[in-house]
Order: sequence, then structure tokens, then C-alpha cells
Amino acid sequence: MAVTEIGKGATVACPFCATLNRVDLTRIADHPKCGRCGRPILLDRPLSISDASIDGVVRGTEVPVVVDCYADWCGPCKIMAPILDDLARDRQGDVLVTKLDTDRNPATVRRFDIRAIPTLLVFRGGEAVVRHAGAIPRQELDTLVGLSIRP
Ligand SMILES: [Zn+2]
Repeated sequence: MAVTEIGKGATVACPFCATLNRVDLTRIADHPKCGRCGRPILLDRPLSISDASIDGVVRGTEVPVVVDCYADWCGPCKIMAPILDDLARDRQGDVLVTKLDTDRNPATVRRFDIRAIPTLLVFRGGEAVVRHAGAIPRQELDTLVGLSIRP
């Protein structure tokens, strides 16, 4: 039976030129490129997010957005990093995984009152609906994001 695929959109900042791009998550296989610099936008790994881009990304994305608030000097963040890499790779198109460097983005840290790192925020429909401080294993991360077991 023929079905019509309804586009699932996301808004992401280009890792090279920081331009916000709209991408269709149902067409990742077509290798989306940045509309400005033409370089590939790779969604199989966490993307950087910043004070400047966070609103555009979380409001313009129709799947849950995970924001990993981290710092380079934070030990538990280093434990969390490969777990987030795995999530981004396994569930690309179902969830957008982003990372926010807390040392470089003080406005977001203040706004969400982030007092410990790593802090994981999950946004749905532009709103921060879940927050969790501290590193967690993959299964707990999936539960936090609201991902069900893959059928
Ligand atoms: Zn670009």
C-alpha cells in the first residue's frame, strides 16, 4: 500500500559556518548540505549548539532535541560523550543530539539555571521538558528522551 511520507523537519546550525539550515529528517539519505557554504550537514553525530542558535534549533525541530551541557575539563562529561555519540548515530532522524559548551555560552547556562555538568536537557516543541544532571547509561538516556524500544 502506498503511503505519503510526511516530512519531519529539523533546524540545525552548520558546523562550519554556523548558518541555521532546515533539513528534512525523512531524507537524510540524500545527504543534506548547508545552504550557505555547501558543506555536508552530518546528523549521525552530535551537533554544536550555542547561545545564538539554541532558540532556532529547538523551536524549528519536530523531533526531541537533546542538549548536552558540558565542559572540556569535566570528567563525567567525557563518560557521557560516547553515549551521546551512539544515540546520535543509532537514532538519527528520531532525535536531534546537540552539545553546548557551558564555558562559551553563559546566557543559556543562566537561563536554564545549570549548576552541574553534565546537564542533559530535552526539548519538545521548543520547550525544555526534561532535565537531568550527571552522566547516565544509554538505556536511561533513551528513557529520558522518551524513545521507545525500536519495533
Ligand atoms: Zn555552512
